[in-house]
Amino acid sequence: MARVRAHPPADAREARAREAVLTALAELPRPFDRDAGPTHVTASAVVVGRRGILLHRHRRLGRWLQPGGHLDPAEEPAAAAVRECAEETGLTARHPDSGPVLLHLDVHGAADGHVHLDLRYLLVGPDAPPAPGPGESQEVAWYGWDEAVALADEALVGALAAARRLAGAGTGVSGPTPGSTMAEPFDTLMEVQEHDTVIDQLRHRRATLPERASLAEVTVRRTELAASLSSLQAQIDDLASRQGRLEEQIATTAARRHQLEERMRTAVGTAARDLQAMDHEVGLLAARQQQLEEDELVLLEEEEPLDQALAEQSAVQAALDAEAGRLAEAVEAVEAALDAELVAEEGRRTGAAGRLPVDLAERYERLRSKLGGVGAARLIADRCDGCHLTLSSVEVDRIRHLPSDALVTCPQCDRILVR
Ligand SMILES: [Zn+2]
Repeated sequence: MARVRAHPPADAREARAREAVLTALAELPRPFDRDAGPTHVTASAVVVGRRGILLHRHRRLGRWLQPGGHLDPAEEPAAAAVRECAEETGLTARHPDSGPVLLHLDVHGAADGHVHLDLRYLLVGPDAPPAPGPGESQEVAWYGWDEAVALADEALVGALAAARRLAGAGTGVSGPTPGSTMAEPFDTLMEVQEHDTVIDQLRHRRATLPERASLAEVTVRRTELAASLSSLQAQIDDLASRQGRLEEQIATTAARRHQLEERMRTAVGTAARDLQAMDHEVGLLAARQQQLEEDELVLLEEEEPLDQALAEQSAVQAALDAEAGRLAEAVEAVEAALDAELVAEEGRRTGAAGRLPVDLAERYERLRSKLGGVGAARLIADRCDGCHLTLSSVEVDRIRHLPSDALVTCPQCDRILVR
């Protein structure tokens, strides 16, 4: 009662709460007994530690609250706050070295028509992840100040503000560093792992560009087409040279025939036998010329479909050349974009890796090269996020009780486990 009376209210809500608590303590016969009446004292814990502020999501209310609850028979409220915290979060918090600090008062309606006179104590939390028992809400976590204020139930905001004022102000309680609720150097290690994963994905994308595969296909088709075109051209050239020879032969035959016909026409006094022989030869030459001309026609007919195929395939070749040019440009553009992303990501990675202790960095690199690029993984509930196997409850329990700067590895895959 003296402690409540000495507590300075931070705002009007808390001032009203303080009056209500003082009145109840003065008038109710058994204000600490939950069974004595609907209005009774409860105790809760605003737990502040290196990892942040400890909040859990109430199973029935669905709201983010500090651990707390009814008092056991004959229990001091300050002791109840520590006990409720242990029951609901699995974490052993303690009062500051200077003694219990009554941080905040709140009066609010609760289930079953209860009115709770809640005494909120500032507790010092351990540097460990929450481990709620099976019957409790599993949604328990450490939050930074701003996160906690954003998430917390309205009735808790005043208490958080008071805790923040007190943290580090001679209470021996120090709050989290802003934006960081994890323990170094493992949060940095996880950051490096995330950058490495992005870098690996970018390199994989660069190595397996669909545009490059299409370009390779087009190149194969262009090579095949070039072979086919050169074979066609060779056949056409061959036909042309055969045609050329035929035309020479036709010209020679025609000339010889004309010569003979001229001689026959101008012949005077030539023997009839000789004329007959010449006439016979002219006949042979005419027949030969006709044959040669027919052969030439056959060649021309043979050449026609070849010329047509050559024209068609040349058109396809021009289209493929254009397609190859377009794809080569696309490959170059995507490669340049990915290279820029890689340079930026590698820069961020180098920055983060520079903050890692050398031995941890080396161990991570060895594991990473051996284990498909993943050297560090989170422990999510009881599962290693690297190998996705479940750890035994004994193992999880052992890990949860290790100090936050202890190096933990997965018993199945050997990866560094980040809690
Ligand atoms: Zn594992």
